[in-house]
Amino acid sequence: QWSKVSKELRQELGESSFKSWIEPLELVGVENGIARLRAPSRFVGDWVKRNYHDKIVARLRADHADLSQLEFSVSTAPIVRKAPSTGSAGSRTAEPAAVFEGAPLEGRYTFDNFVVGKPNELAHAAAKRVAEGGPVTFNPLFLYGGVGLGKTHLMHAIVWELSQTRPDLQVLYLSAEQFMYRFVQALRDRQIMDFKNLFRSVDVLMVDDVQFIAGKDSTQEEFFHTFNALVDQNKQIVISADCAPGEIKDLEDRITSRMQCGLVVDLHPTDYELRLGILHRKAAIFAETLGPVNVGDGVFEFLAHRITNNVRVLEGALQRLFAFSNLIGQEITLDMVQDCLSDILRSSDRRVTVEEIQRKVSEHFNIRLSDMLGPKRARNIARPRQIAMYLAKELTSRSLPEIGRRFGGRDHTTILYGVRKVEEMRGTDSQLGEDVDLLRRLLQS
Ligand code: ADP
Ligand code: MG
Repeated sequence: QWSKVSKELRQELGESSFKSWIEPLELVGVENGIARLRAPSRFVGDWVKRNYHDKIVARLRADHADLSQLEFSVSTAPIVRKAPSTGSAGSRTAEPAAVFEGAPLEGRYTFDNFVVGKPNELAHAAAKRVAEGGPVTFNPLFLYGGVGLGKTHLMHAIVWELSQTRPDLQVLYLSAEQFMYRFVQALRDRQIMDFKNLFRSVDVLMVDDVQFIAGKDSTQEEFFHTFNALVDQNKQIVISADCAPGEIKDLEDRITSRMQCGLVVDLHPTDYELRLGILHRKAAIFAETLGPVNVGDGVFEFLAHRITNNVRVLEGALQRLFAFSNLIGQEITLDMVQDCLSDILRSSDRRVTVEEIQRKVSEHFNIRLSDMLGPKRARNIARPRQIAMYLAKELTSRSLPEIGRRFGGRDHTTILYGVRKVEEMRGTDSQLGEDVDLLRRLLQS
């Protein structure tokens, strides 16, 4: 019966999709409205579920009228399959090729669901380029940024998209921690050659949170060799970390310099517009699963304003509001936000003041506070002043006229000019961009 279903799917999906996704599946059984299928890897299972769930269910229903759901199990857990040591040639050919079992992928982490704004546009563009699966133009792609700014999301998005653009490629995504775990396991089981062969035979290797292996000497060493072997074969590598290659403590210099050979892009902290965009996007996604919910005036704006440090927290807050609103059948109001999120709001309540910003910025650039507030126009004073204006606009809820008053009674248009100037320069002047990010982190911690 499965053979009939798969024959139909072959016709409908075409040879290459069929070979990648349907052919490797095995129907284990149907019971209580659930069809159990075995997939060669979690990745294949996830993919089939995402893309072909309904098609498969519809066809199986011909024989099982009550069928409503598919469940996937993974046929082979180990990542390294030992070649059969005994047996005839016949049994060897029956042995499937090495199974690549990467980390599980989050279905929602797609490019479609990734909101692009100034702070992440470069990272997004670079990730997109890799996902096209064309000739390797930079290697590695090194993505870095603070917690919850979308590194993992972008990496999963690359895998999802590559599996569509280049289903012929072996893509292996895993965290640096898993890399280490497998390495240690291979050492223990004396399968280090298998480990090496496996990692050296992928077409695209993606390692998330690489800072994890810093200080772990033998793992670093192995990672370095894997890395070089793949680069030599012109295979794409994508790495993420929580800071720039040169800033990862206890990472070997030779690894650092290898990382810097490709394209290094950072995900900047979100700005207000981006947070607003993300809230709208996530709300649409939650509405799909939890049902539609009315969001009252000013709710998104309030959240985007108040929860500034981590997109994950912002998302969690919204999810909680959706669940609550759904439960009591009322729209999300500002009052509900205060009640429901009091813990989150309290912890992000440490409000930065304009005065604090001015003080920190003056210290950072080594200028006098009185100069920052005074009339001097020399570049070495005016630039830090503009940066302070920009941060005041970003990090406090003061209006432009209020900020102006705190900058020695300047006009709001002067403040606006300063804010715009810094926004503009952040894109072109990387030193200034780094200064701004650093100051922002200092002020928000
Ligand atoms: P990181 O790996 O950098 O710590 P994640 O990729 O895990 O961060 O992102 C944390 C959460 O924030 C995820 O749910 C992710 O979908 C969401 N997120 C972050 N940036 C964006 C964005 N630009 N658009 C949509 N969602 C985002
Ligand atoms: Mg991550």
